[in-house]
Amino acid sequence: MIEVRELTKRYGATTAVDRLSFAVRPGTVTGFLGPNGAGKSTTMRVLLGLDAATSGEALVNGGRYAALRRPMREVGALLDAGAVHGGRRAFDHLGWLARSNGIPARRVAEVLEQVGLAGVARKRVAGFSLGMRQRLGIAAALLGDPGVLMFDEPVNGLDPDGVRWIRELMRALAAEGRTVLISSHLMSEMELTADRLIVIGRGRLIADTSVRELAERF
Ligand code: ADP
Ligand code: ADP
Repeated sequence: MIEVRELTKRYGATTAVDRLSFAVRPGTVTGFLGPNGAGKSTTMRVLLGLDAATSGEALVNGGRYAALRRPMREVGALLDAGAVHGGRRAFDHLGWLARSNGIPARRVAEVLEQVGLAGVARKRVAGFSLGMRQRLGIAAALLGDPGVLMFDEPVNGLDPDGVRWIRELMRALAAEGRTVLISSHLMSEMELTADRLIVIGRGRLIADTSVRELAERF
């Protein structure tokens, strides 16, 4: 479960998120839709404890990220796929994440298989395409087998097969009862992937609706 209540985040004079409230329920894929600069990444960063709220609350499973006992077991996220140190091998990067988070080592091979990177597990990340980096970031998110997942623009840089794969993965994760939040600036992508849509602009809520209801209005 994800709950955002009256969340405001300012950077100096910029209000990135403006009294934003929404909830994401288990067993759904919720699309977080809005143009670039709308405040999607900022909201996810606050939910993940990477940035502090100016006011309001951003809760995962009823608490703040900092209060989670085993964070990667509760919430996994893909935020910035370019962020992994390029000198590392995929297997070693995930192995290090598993070790430092008390996650069984066998999960590393499992998630590499799940995202289709088993064949390049021993290769250095520096040689990975953006699509491969997205898959590696998704593998990291899945590593702790968390019930809550957040993906920030996971489709960027993927070819059509990769886009379809992401869509199917999101549906499968929700079908397992997980809470899935996926951001995008593309309505066309979200209507194919999500059950619900949270639409924001300039940090404010514009719509909170089911994709079916929205389709019926057109
Ligand atoms: P989105 O993810 O929807 O593209 P962001 O959350 O990245 O939007 O950005 C929302 C607004 O906050 C933008 O105006 C952006 O420039 C600003 N912003 C985001 N992060 C920072 C930061 N670290 N410092 C200053 N401004 C920021
Ligand atoms: P540091 O603050 O030194 O970067 P962290 O432990 O915060 O160390 O993060 C290290 C790596 O783990 C980063 O690549 C980050 O993206 C990833 N990471 C941290 N928490 C999660 C999570 N819940 N899900 C997926 N990846 C995570």
